[in-house]
Amino acid sequence: MISLSQLKTSIKARIASYYDTSFYQHRQRLNVDLLDSMGHVLAEDITAPFDVPRQNLSSMDGFAIAQNSSLAEGEQIEIIGESQAGQPFQLTNQQQLQTGQGVRIFTGAIVPEGCDTVVIQENTNFEQLKNPDPQADKNSQQVLDKSKPYHITLSQTAKANANIRKQGDEIELGDVVLNKGKLLNPTDISLLANLGIAQVQIYQPLVVGLLATGDELVALGQPLTSLAQIYNSNTPTLKALLSKLPISIKDYGILKDDLSEIEQCLITASQECDVLISSAGVSVGDYDFLTTAIEKLGKINHYKVAMKPGKPFVFGELQGKKQNPLQADKSPQDNNTVFYFGLPGNPLSAVVSCLQLVMPALWQMSGVAEDDLPLTLTLTLKATVNNDIKKSAGRLDFQRGVLTQLTDGSYQVTALASQQSHRIKQLSNANCLIVLDEDSGNVQAGETVNVQPFTWRLG
Ligand code: AMP
Ligand code: MG
Repeated sequence: MISLSQLKTSIKARIASYYDTSFYQHRQRLNVDLLDSMGHVLAEDITAPFDVPRQNLSSMDGFAIAQNSSLAEGEQIEIIGESQAGQPFQLTNQQQLQTGQGVRIFTGAIVPEGCDTVVIQENTNFEQLKNPDPQADKNSQQVLDKSKPYHITLSQTAKANANIRKQGDEIELGDVVLNKGKLLNPTDISLLANLGIAQVQIYQPLVVGLLATGDELVALGQPLTSLAQIYNSNTPTLKALLSKLPISIKDYGILKDDLSEIEQCLITASQECDVLISSAGVSVGDYDFLTTAIEKLGKINHYKVAMKPGKPFVFGELQGKKQNPLQADKSPQDNNTVFYFGLPGNPLSAVVSCLQLVMPALWQMSGVAEDDLPLTLTLTLKATVNNDIKKSAGRLDFQRGVLTQLTDGSYQVTALASQQSHRIKQLSNANCLIVLDEDSGNVQAGETVNVQPFTWRLG
């Protein structure tokens, strides 16, 4: 049986051969409002429509000083006006600021022409000017009249050219600030909003079809009418697991354990989707029809993987109708491929298989640049295990655990008591998977293990 890492490599290679860079050049794009682009994949390079900062701006509250003025301690500067954020200082009669003159200035305000230094107000006698005698009765205090020129004194030697954010210092007009393939995150939204970009182009999200199979399944909201019935939990679970991906989901509901019903649905769904994910029906039971149907309509690239839980797993492909223009020279099977992932029915196995195999594949197909993929895809921590763990060699094992971080920054993990794969409450109590390698046997308390935190527990 193929190992998980071999299977991941193989799926990655097959997807890379289809969803290559040129694929995205022809991918449909959508224009969306900036906020709606959050979590989607940028489909255009974004260039700056102006310099940032647009002008020389003050980075502090203080005084902008005319160039060539002495900045030595004790120097007096005549303050002849004010520059506020949004309300720049304007000289009247084309006059120039003279040496030894300056302007009261605030953070984010334009540094007046002819000034090359901002002195922070803490390094002047300004506070004292405003409030010459803190002990005196408030009413009798002299209040600085800022409508007229006044003098400040530098209380320490100032550094020339300090505290000014120069025009274009960070971004110049026309600079590419974001490249296509960026998975847009809150800080990108900030950057784009700063640049006044109200709309961006994103790739049309992949359409992912979900199918649940099983005669015993009942949809949420419907009553259970016999003891043989259970709720279809896999479809809502998969929707929740995949909710952060830049995809749109099409729900094909619950199918009976019936080969022709399954085939019909696969045919329809492969015309409408880029990817199909089914749950259940991939084991070797008499009513497990998914493998038969996929073999008949398309092909199975891999069946089963040496991991626990999640051994029954199918990676296959079907023929859809969406053309990949760059693959047009290839045979029809190769130019409109719909990738198929058949997950086990068991809810815990379905979660683990989705996390390990489906999510990385979907991210790969999403068009996100490789270096911008979520770090969580490969996040593995080392933790000291608090209890003994039973494990037989031969198969990679994902056990449910509770991970905690100690004050020194190191991690500890406790494996939850029973690791039977039907335990769904235990899965929700866990915050990580403990990854025990194929060849590892029992693990003793105190040993170090690899742990994958659940991404939703990372906040
Ligand atoms: P199967 O792969 O069809 O043998 O299913 C394995 C186990 O998963 C059985 O106990 C099924 O009842 C259960 N199961 C299958 N599909 C679902 C589903 N959509 N939601 C919850 N449990 C399921
Ligand atoms: Mg079944």
